[in-house]
Amino acid sequence: MSAGESIRERAARVLDRIARAAARSGRTGEEIRLVAVGKTQPAWCIGEALEAGLTVIGENYVQEAEEKIRAFPSAEWHLIGRLQRNKVKKAVALFSWIQTVDSLGLLLDISRRAGEAGKVLPGLVEVNIAGEGTKAGLTPGELPALIEAAPGLPGIRLRGLMAIPPWTEDPEESRPYFKRLRELFDECALRGGAGPGWTELSMGMSNDFETAIEEGATMIRVGTAIFGSRARREA
Ligand SMILES: *Cc1c(COP(=O)(O)O)cnc(C)c1O
Repeated sequence: MSAGESIRERAARVLDRIARAAARSGRTGEEIRLVAVGKTQPAWCIGEALEAGLTVIGENYVQEAEEKIRAFPSAEWHLIGRLQRNKVKKAVALFSWIQTVDSLGLLLDISRRAGEAGKVLPGLVEVNIAGEGTKAGLTPGELPALIEAAPGLPGIRLRGLMAIPPWTEDPEESRPYFKRLRELFDECALRGGAGPGWTELSMGMSNDFETAIEEGATMIRVGTAIFGSRARREA
């Protein structure tokens, strides 16, 4: 990726790579949701991504996202960073999807706040797939209890799993984690508690999204490959 390239050019290249990886897994590029990750990027960059035809934007921080969401309310906004309990009300008002449900308490809070706002939010459960001490997410063993608690809740509908494997330059090192997440996803589906809307696997970032698609990702979250490098502010 060269620094002189525009967001439009980078986005087109990512879409092309998505289409080819999807074909390798017997799907089409349209079946993969590309979440353009806008953290640390100014609103005008989000505008360029939307003009380039992208429709889904991911943000890590509720506070940072607010202004961008107000500037581009018609995009589909996904929260992909850790959600603090005291920001749930605001997050529910701003976002269309919450990809980072990581506790029963948070699940209940989101449902209550969304219910108050007359919404049913789609949510993904974040799994700490490599058991890293520094990362958010449930352990695989904690998953069943959370998923079994969800069907009766009025304000949230769990749609699948999300994970962030350890960062690596070599996408093949991510593959076992993607396979494991896929297995967990299937196990949850078999338990039945998840319901018919259980269809989404959010995995894969700029360095490994093609591998993730080969392993069944339905959503990939891509920042630098679209927007170029950013100030490294996240953990
Ligand atoms: C930053 C971030 C991404 C995108 O990372 P890139 O390597 O820039 O593609 C994806 N998912 C989450 C949760 C992130 O925080």
